[in-house]
Amino acid sequence: MQDCIFCKIIKKEIPSQVVYEDELVMAFKDINPLAPVHVLIIPKEHLANVLDINEENADIVGHMYLVANKLAREAGISEKGFRIVTNCNEEGGQVVYHLHFHLIGGEKLKCFA
Ligand code: AMP
Ligand code: ZN
Repeated sequence: MQDCIFCKIIKKEIPSQVVYEDELVMAFKDINPLAPVHVLIIPKEHLANVLDINEENADIVGHMYLVANKLAREAGISEKGFRIVTNCNEEGGQVVYHLHFHLIGGEKLKCFA
C-alpha cells in the first residue's frame, strides 16, 4: 500500500524505534505513548484491520500475540499486567488503517475502550 504510513515504516522509508522484527511482523514504539510501555505490533502484510482477517491469513494473529507475549516479558510488565488493544474503523478509534496491536503497560491503566 503506497500511502500507508506503517508500510513505509516496514520498508524503512520512515524512521521508527524498532523493538522486534522477523519475516512476518514488526514491532516499534508508538510515537505518542499512552503509558511507559507502548509498542505497536504490525504484520508485514498490509491488512487494513481485523476485518481483513480470513481463513487464509488468520495465523498472523497468533504470531502477533506470541510477539506481544515476548515483548511484554522483555519490557518487564508481564507480571504486573498490560493491555493489548486493536482498534477497528472510525467509531473504534482507528486512525492508521494497517492492522496493529497496541501493547500498553508499565503503570496502572485506566479503563478505556
Ligand atoms: P490507532 O488509533 O489504533 O489507529 O493507532 C495508531 C497509532 O499509531 C497511534 O497510537 C499513533 O500514535 C501511532 N503512530 C502514528 N504514526 C506513527 C509513527 N510514525 N511511528 C510510531 N507510531 C505512530
Ligand atoms: Zn500498510
